[in-house]
Amino acid sequence: MEFERLLALRLNVDIAQLCTIGCCTEGIFQSMDLLGIQPGDEVILPTISFIAAGNAIACRGALPVFCDVDSRTLNATAEDIKEKVTDKTRAIMLLHYGGLPCDVDEIMALAQEKNLYLIEDNACSPFSRYKSRCCGTCGDIGLWSFDSMKILVTGDGGLLYVKDTEKALHAKELVYLGLKQTSGYSSKVDNRWWEFDISCFGRRSIMNDISSAIGIEQLKKIDDFLRRRQYVHEYYMSQLADIDWLTLPPPFPDCVQSSYYLFWIQLRNEEKRDNLARFMREKGIYTTFRYYPLHRVPFFKQNVVLPKAEDAAHRTLCLPIHQSLSEKDMEHIVSVVKQFKQ
Ligand SMILES: *Cc1c(COP(=O)(O)O)cnc(C)c1O
Repeated sequence: MEFERLLALRLNVDIAQLCTIGCCTEGIFQSMDLLGIQPGDEVILPTISFIAAGNAIACRGALPVFCDVDSRTLNATAEDIKEKVTDKTRAIMLLHYGGLPCDVDEIMALAQEKNLYLIEDNACSPFSRYKSRCCGTCGDIGLWSFDSMKILVTGDGGLLYVKDTEKALHAKELVYLGLKQTSGYSSKVDNRWWEFDISCFGRRSIMNDISSAIGIEQLKKIDDFLRRRQYVHEYYMSQLADIDWLTLPPPFPDCVQSSYYLFWIQLRNEEKRDNLARFMREKGIYTTFRYYPLHRVPFFKQNVVLPKAEDAAHRTLCLPIHQSLSEKDMEHIVSVVKQFKQ
């Protein structure tokens, strides 16, 4: 509760709209329940998304409709999404790639025009801002992850934001066994307080107290974490600027604030990208690509071509970025990139 209260203050929302949960994946699944996504419905999401987003939609019997993304930012634009809207579309599941907010105004206008729900997978962008709004609180539902790979970490954990307070109340029941009351001890009933009713067949997806306690401490340090990440980002931007065989992320618009979750560079083709990744790994530096395009995952049996996302997936590599990276680490990473003979 205290962690929720502090998060509500930080995100500038009502505590009634927030619900801490065991992990973000569970929240993404719950969002399908909350919005009543049915078999046969379509949900549009950028193909550059976390696997859980596709799973949650498909698991429901709905169709995940993967859309293309901008090849520099790896974010879906309103146009990319619009191309995929049909009369079966019910929702958009957005990702703010690497912490950089999408063009939220345009996407919200599209959602409004087509009468679609907007879900934000906010795992990359826990404290990003778009204009005056905190990412994750722009749409109908927002999901945060506090797993060990993220920015604010609690071992495992997540947060669910639900704009509509009535739905938010239902969310709190869904994540705790469907119970309509919190505990027998705190209830006002004078006898047989062990009797109860449920409002739905809920699961148990709440966050535990130990994780919440860690979260409270992490929240005190979050501004330092974000500053440090921004510093690493700017260091890479300046130190790698004169290398002509790689492309840096585009400058971020003034109206947004990133969480600097990922730092990505782009090479001329797949072979060069793969060679750089291997070269850096041999030198003890782990790089990766997030997120492998879901329309290419065979299990989804999708037969679409999304040229911009495919191009980006071939050429993009994520360099290490986190708040514990030392000055020496950063210098070493840059010098190894510069040693790469392509
Ligand atoms: C990590 C991640 C998730 C899932 O978070 P968990 O808390 O580990 O379930 C969802 N979406 C994105 C974009 C992520 O990076």
